[in-house]
Formats: sequence, C-alpha cells, structure tokens
Amino acid sequence: MIDRRLVGERDARLDLAARRVEDVTKAGRGGRVDGGASDKVTDSLGAGRCLHTKGFRGRRPASRPYRGRSISPANVQAVQIRKQFRFEAAHVLPHHLGKCGRLHGHSYRFEVVLDGPLQTTGPAQGMVFDFDEISTVVKPAIVERLDHASLNDLMPNPTAEHIALWIWKELEPRLRGLSEIVVWETQTACAIVRAGG
Ligand SMILES: [Zn+2]
Repeated sequence: MIDRRLVGERDARLDLAARRVEDVTKAGRGGRVDGGASDKVTDSLGAGRCLHTKGFRGRRPASRPYRGRSISPANVQAVQIRKQFRFEAAHVLPHHLGKCGRLHGHSYRFEVVLDGPLQTTGPAQGMVFDFDEISTVVKPAIVERLDHASLNDLMPNPTAEHIALWIWKELEPRLRGLSEIVVWETQTACAIVRAGG
C-alpha cells in the first residue's frame, strides 16, 4: 500500500528543492532573486554567499584548494618598492626659448624605486628595504640639499632629466637595489632614469 499523505509530502519537498535550484541558477547568471527566496537560498547553501553578484559560480569547496599560480616569498624573484619625496626649488633653463628660460620655481616630487628580494633575517625581514631607512639616506643626501635651492648652483642645465640623473648619481652608491629615479616637475610631466639605461 502506498501512503498518499507521505507521497504528497515528498512531492512538496521535491518541488521546493527544484524552486531553490532555479533561484540559485538565476542568481548565478546575474538574475535577481526576491528577498524571501534569496534568504532561503542563502540559508540552504550557507551564510555569507552573495547571490546577487554577477558571475557567481558558488563557493569553492574546502576539498578543492586553489591550484592556480601561488605567490609566496619563495617563488618571487624580486619585489619593487617606491617611496616619494618632495622639494621646492628654483631653476632657469639657459638654452630654452620659452618661458622656462626665465627664473622660476617648481614643487618637485621624486620617487626612489628599489627592486630586490625580500630580506629573510633581521628587523627588515619581509621587506626589500625599510622605508624609514630609505628616508634616512634620501633626506640628507637629496632633499636637504635641493629644497629651496637654486638648482643652477648644482648643475648648469637643471632640466627634469638632469635632476633625475643627479639624484641617481648621489643615491646609487648608497641604496642597494636602486632601479629607478622618477622626477615629477609638474603634475603631468616627469623624467625617469633606470638602471642600465
Ligand atoms: Zn621649470
């Protein structure tokens, strides 16, 4: 004998399960699920899932760990760090035919760029170079000498390119892994000196 009451309950459960699958599928394609249905789906699949996210394909099960390219200090050849400094200075470009041929000033900004492996021992382990240590080198060697100075006293033709080269020459023997100096003369114009370039 088939108990019709049990069959009816089973059909109702199957029907509810089918509707939940349909809701998840809609959500997975970027479709919207109404608040009530969304709550049910969220409850049935685990809290924290965002079913409204476009392209949702479900949470990766714990039994399938991420097998893509992993990044760890052991397989990274080099990391690049950048630190910015600024100074205000005057210059005149003696060969320039435009307004830069007249004495004027800029708020210069420059970047010190270092490439290298992460240190594995000591207080700077996990770093290419301690940012504080970079400041300790750069401030007296560059900033304090160029800030509020007339750059023509230090170089005959202080273009952004020559300033970058001057900074490079000063810092290269003092900072291991120096790979780039970027000098921004204005918000939109810069000169770059690169290692080996
Ligand atoms: Zn200028």
